[in-house]
Amino acid sequence: MNKNKKILIANRGVIAIRALRAAKELGYEVASVYSTADKNLKHLRLSDEAICIGPPTSKDSYLNEAAIISAAELSNADAIYPGYGFLAENAEFAEKCTKSGFKFIGPDFNIIALMGDKIRAKELVKSLGVPVVPGYEGKVESKEQIEAEVEKIGYPVIVKAAAGGGGKGMRVVNERSALWEEIQSAQTEADLAFGSKEVFIEKYLKKPRHVEIQVFGDGRGDAVHLFSRDCSLQRKYQKIIEEAPAGNIPLAKLDEIQQISVKACKEMKYEGAGTMEFLYENEEFFFIEMNTRIQVEHTVTEMITGVDLVQSQLLIALEGEFNLKQEDLKINGYAMQCRINAEDPETFVPSPGKITQVHRPGGYHVRFESQIYSGYEVPPNYDSLIAEIIVKDTSRERVINKMRMALNETIIEGVKTNVDLHKRIIEDTNFHEYKHFIKYLEEDLLKNE
Ligand code: ADP
Repeated sequence: MNKNKKILIANRGVIAIRALRAAKELGYEVASVYSTADKNLKHLRLSDEAICIGPPTSKDSYLNEAAIISAAELSNADAIYPGYGFLAENAEFAEKCTKSGFKFIGPDFNIIALMGDKIRAKELVKSLGVPVVPGYEGKVESKEQIEAEVEKIGYPVIVKAAAGGGGKGMRVVNERSALWEEIQSAQTEADLAFGSKEVFIEKYLKKPRHVEIQVFGDGRGDAVHLFSRDCSLQRKYQKIIEEAPAGNIPLAKLDEIQQISVKACKEMKYEGAGTMEFLYENEEFFFIEMNTRIQVEHTVTEMITGVDLVQSQLLIALEGEFNLKQEDLKINGYAMQCRINAEDPETFVPSPGKITQVHRPGGYHVRFESQIYSGYEVPPNYDSLIAEIIVKDTSRERVINKMRMALNETIIEGVKTNVDLHKRIIEDTNFHEYKHFIKYLEEDLLKNE
């Protein structure tokens, strides 16, 4: 099968090689961009073309919109694959791609813009019947006015930036006396980080789980869900372990939220892969945001459904072909992913440097998604994610056993990694019994260290 079309991969690392494989398997040609710090990335050698777009600093390379669009022109690409991070949820960039004649592989830029504004996103999904975290999304007018509003919600609350992302700019407020000061500093921080001062306030849930629904739409009003994931094992709002499907939730509850998520996607005429993120506490779901892109944890969904989500993204974007039908989608088994970061296991400070040796785990239903090889140098400039270990089996217990083996088989030398932290988490009884929640690592397991 050769579709004679070319895709430009505008990303690096784990997702770049993931996208390259998906595209090549479908018969597409691939051009890849890279910064000068990344000239040794494996996927570049397997791409039909590799185009340097600038120096190591992300702002001058992977965030350099003009350089990426020029690379698309130079390579005569049909479409641009943004992956996750960098420009993946940048509506302006998506619009520029479209207006320059390249298909942006993702939803319409207007939807990206809408979902990027968490206040508008919350209002929209609420109007479509999705349950949201109770809060105040109106204007911050004065100290007295906002204090009165928060009194109605009840403390503790969390102040969030409307344009926020990556866990940045959020503040938990436990009492009235701290509210005004925290709002003001959140506004300043949001302005600096996202160029918008706008903040909103939500009830702070104390021990929720993070449960999300994978959705996929054809951009014309049809959509499906690909079940749930649990991503409650987090550190500093960053996910570390992800599972599919989310366990220990009444099936009727899960089904209800899956249906609501699909319905919202249909009404938005959503195109491509997306995720509706929820907090789950006391058997209730509360929407927090929608990610309008593929996520790092899409892999666990692939393992339980047998669907290659990146290929589905390419097919809908380049061929208008929607290859998913709800009635064909079934859950088969359980899957878990451990994110392997090059970082100090005690301080969590990134640990770039040369990888002297790699032994990959193997076996039936064991997947290792990574750009690393012996001799590869992890640059200091980017995210510390260097690999994902993904396993699937027939029960969660077996998945844990399989993950234990996979972690024991994994050897990465030369840089520090969090492999040992993963080994420890998967032996934890609370984790086994689904008693963990989003702050469990910080507030419990690692608390006294
Ligand atoms: P971002 O876009 O920066 O990732 P999110 O709104 O997705 O922000 O929130 C990130 C994380 O913050 C969530 O996964 C959850 O751990 C925590 N969080 C967000 N909202 C609340 C809330 N209302 N109560 C408790 N924790 C929250």
